[in-house]
Amino acid sequence: MKFKRILLKLSGEALMGNRQYGIDPERLSEYANDIKSITAKGIEVAIVIGGGNIFRGVSGASNGMDRVQGDHMGMLATVINGLALQGALEDAGIPTRLQTAIKINEVAEPFIRRKAMRHLEKGRVVIFGGGTGNPYFTTDSAAVLRAIEIEADVILKGTRVDGIYTADPEKDTDAVKFDHITFDDVLRKGLKVMDTTAFTLSQENELPIIVFDMNKKGNLLRLISGEKIGTRVNL
Ligand code: UDP
Repeated sequence: MKFKRILLKLSGEALMGNRQYGIDPERLSEYANDIKSITAKGIEVAIVIGGGNIFRGVSGASNGMDRVQGDHMGMLATVINGLALQGALEDAGIPTRLQTAIKINEVAEPFIRRKAMRHLEKGRVVIFGGGTGNPYFTTDSAAVLRAIEIEADVILKGTRVDGIYTADPEKDTDAVKFDHITFDDVLRKGLKVMDTTAFTLSQENELPIIVFDMNKKGNLLRLISGEKIGTRVNL
């Protein structure tokens, strides 16, 4: 296996499946089965999940809501998604723990790094909810932060496109995919992989990012087994 410990970043929108809002249980259970295929190989898996399918602070603010309050709602949305994912993983027979950056003790454990690492060593999937716990950040930043903290080998960003392209492949048919690209080239070419805060945190800590299509069944296992899918960003 190519990696020992990974951090998987899933966007909230990915959970919608073909819906316009909320959570598609079928999509959740497909994800759970894909995740099971790699935990079965002994890979330690931590997950950061977004909240965009339920609420985004910026959209709240653009409708006149206080930004910080909106971001608090967004963070809580990621906890809702975390609980849904935890349920799906447990249905698939995978032991899990949900740890949140904002304390909701009746619902989930608080984020404690050493505890999270211990869970991973014991083969439990750890889901990190609540983002970084701070407004004005994104779950991409939370994903990079947690990945560094738990000493993950790589961050796997599961999206609905199969990597990083010269332009948006959903809009431009001439867009060409990169197999490999450096952090510097992503910044120089102005490509969108993550928000800049998240991206530079990853670069400064030499944490490679792989962007891949999470909606294609089996891709996660292929990636872990060393198949060259998606786009790898490194130094
Ligand atoms: N959020 C936040 N701080 C964080 C992470 C998330 O305030 O550290 C809020 C923010 O309002 C964001 C929302 O939670 O819009 C949902 O997260 P994100 O947009 O990153 O989700 P995704 O796009 O991955 O679904």
